[in-house]
This record gives sequence, C-alpha cells and structure tokens, in this order.
Amino acid sequence: MSVKPIPNDPMLRRGTDKCRCMACGAYFRRSGTFAAHRIGNWENDGANRRCRTASEMLALEWLRDTEGYWVQGNLPARAIGKLRASRDRQKAVPEEGG
Ligand SMILES: [Zn+2]
Repeated sequence: MSVKPIPNDPMLRRGTDKCRCMACGAYFRRSGTFAAHRIGNWENDGANRRCRTASEMLALEWLRDTEGYWVQGNLPARAIGKLRASRDRQKAVPEEGG
C-alpha cells in the first residue's frame, strides 16, 4: 500500500507541528507522536521499520481527535469518553487483513 502526498493538504498547515505519515497516511498533531508510531529496528537499512496499526495505537491509549489527528492523550475527559465509546463499537467489527 502506498500513500500519495497531498499537495496543499489543509490538514497540514504551515507553522504547526502537525504531520502526516507517508507510509500509512495517518495524521499526527505532533511530530513526536508520528515518530513514536514508527517502530522496529534499523537493521537491513530499516527494512524492519513499520507503522503501528490503529489498534496498536489505541492500545497505547492514543486517540484520534475530533479533527482526525492522532494524539497521545491530553484531551478533555469528555472528548476521550466519546472517542472511547466509538473505539468500543469498532472492536465488534473483525479487522481485515491482520
Ligand atoms: Zn505511519
């Protein structure tokens, strides 16, 4: 799966720390969160590097905020409750691929 860059992406405004993963297409509110979602060692020129899946990030208590950016917590409790509720709904759906 490849993700093409989006020119003038409104999700990535200049002067913010927001970023988009070129590998999986996920958006992140902070570049540190993006860096943390890339895992694996650097052997074989990084052949083992990969992105955490959405379910792996959710398992780390990361959340996708209301605008669609992944964040590492720090949301108002009400927003988290709402997002967790939708996460629970998604759990009932079998994942494709694996
Ligand atoms: Zn990624």
